[in-house]
Amino acid sequence: MNKLLLSLTLILIISSCSSREKVDAIYFNGDIYTVNDKFEIAEAFAIKDGKFIAVGSSKDIRNQYQSEEEIDLLGSPVYPGFIDGHAHFIRYAKDLGDVDLVGTASFEELVQRLQKHVKKFPNEPVLLGQGWDQNNWEGKQFPTKDTLDLLFPDKVVMLRRIDAHAVLTNQKGLDLAGIDANTKVSGGEILVENGQPTGVLIDNAMNLLSDKLPEMSESQKKELIQQAEANCFAVGITSLAEAGLDKSQIDLLDHMHKDSLLRMRIYAMINPTAENMEYYFSNGHYKTDYLNVRSFKIYGDGALGSRGACLIEPYADDEDNYGFLRSKPQVFDSLAKLVFAKDFQMNTHCIGDSANRAITNIYAKYLKGKNDRRWRIEHAQVLADNDFSKFGDFNILPSVQPTHATSDMDWAHERLGEERVKNAYAYQELLKQNGKLVLGSDFPVEDINPIYGFHSAVARQDDDNLPEGGFQIENSLSREEALKGMTIWAAFGQFEEKEKGSIAKGKLADFVILDRDIMKVPREELRDTKVVQTHSGGEKVYEIQ
Ligand SMILES: [Zn+2]
Repeated sequence: MNKLLLSLTLILIISSCSSREKVDAIYFNGDIYTVNDKFEIAEAFAIKDGKFIAVGSSKDIRNQYQSEEEIDLLGSPVYPGFIDGHAHFIRYAKDLGDVDLVGTASFEELVQRLQKHVKKFPNEPVLLGQGWDQNNWEGKQFPTKDTLDLLFPDKVVMLRRIDAHAVLTNQKGLDLAGIDANTKVSGGEILVENGQPTGVLIDNAMNLLSDKLPEMSESQKKELIQQAEANCFAVGITSLAEAGLDKSQIDLLDHMHKDSLLRMRIYAMINPTAENMEYYFSNGHYKTDYLNVRSFKIYGDGALGSRGACLIEPYADDEDNYGFLRSKPQVFDSLAKLVFAKDFQMNTHCIGDSANRAITNIYAKYLKGKNDRRWRIEHAQVLADNDFSKFGDFNILPSVQPTHATSDMDWAHERLGEERVKNAYAYQELLKQNGKLVLGSDFPVEDINPIYGFHSAVARQDDDNLPEGGFQIENSLSREEALKGMTIWAAFGQFEEKEKGSIAKGKLADFVILDRDIMKVPREELRDTKVVQTHSGGEKVYEIQ
């Protein structure tokens, strides 16, 4: 790897020949996956003013152009900058300041991590953590607040579940939120045992607490966002879709872009609050080279892990529970009507088959037939047989996260039963509908590394390369399909296929150099792939150490 890095040599050309056009940089002698219409592999490209101005053979490019920076790729594989089609960048950034509870193997371990943090920062009035998953603990039971009340009676504790659809709080948190055993909240749940809240708040119930927490300072936010960006560049991400932001957050990103504090390209989906709708419906789309605002993120239902996903038949492991929609169908219908009339894109989170059915029916009502509105279903996780074809009939784009399949595969059948699970994470079946699929990670629910998603999509295996043969392997994607899903199709999903998503003349010079060819190495080696360099707009934004 280091050898490869060192061998990316910079050649200073001393040439008297002036007939060749001057450019900012030339990269040659590579295996360049252009991901163009013919999926061609090129050897070289020239960059000027942040864009690719020519792509072709090493000979042709070097005959036609000259630069003070001519870089010999020595056969390294190069790909378009990776686009994460569904992520929560701001939440991920915020999490970087919270106690990391990802991968805790027991509730005791969670408590230990909290205690360690409190030892370091004893005076913080609020204790925030994220990333627990009771499915990784013995008994798989939801945790309760008792231990937190004993250990941290004077701090407000809020610990988010890995899927961000549930939090665990303590009594101090319940008091701050004004929650008792009788509190009711629509589109959410307050878990109660023996007449007392357990401390677990699901979906809309979480807002009762989070709305009361103090805001982070502006400079703290900016620092964490820059840290998040650096982490994304290090795994080859140059663009991402942010699944749900408020206007103030979008403005913060815009200011950071304009002040040259941030160069991650962001497709910002807007949260459908009254304030956001009023502003964007009267001001219309907003677009810069780094920010594109023209879509709304709607929340159809919850998640499978916390049984908030809305199912047609009850949960296989909870026979009276169907999950729930986050709003009444009429609310989704009137939102769709508005979003359609104002020419915005509608992207709705749907996990359960009932949510997918309800929302695709509403989409169909307004889209009517074939169209180019590119309305998306985020996750499209569990579908009834008859509902797949609606994606094709109404050009609804599925936006899926392959690591969800491999994270959930050990317990999804318990929630869904052996029959229904066959129609879950059905990426190949979904791809057939439009010939396109948007791939993303949903980070921080999953790891930010898009290569993990690539591996999950093609091998349907976890980081131990299990199960052998892959989980529901008939729904795996080919490597070509997976690469398209994280580049050109993801760009299509955000109306940007003309400016990014492939290495082609006139497009933004966003690209990634890897230490091995993910289109060829054995599947078991995919997750070991390292990014050697990441470039955004022709500028190097990451280099391996
Ligand atoms: Zn999400």
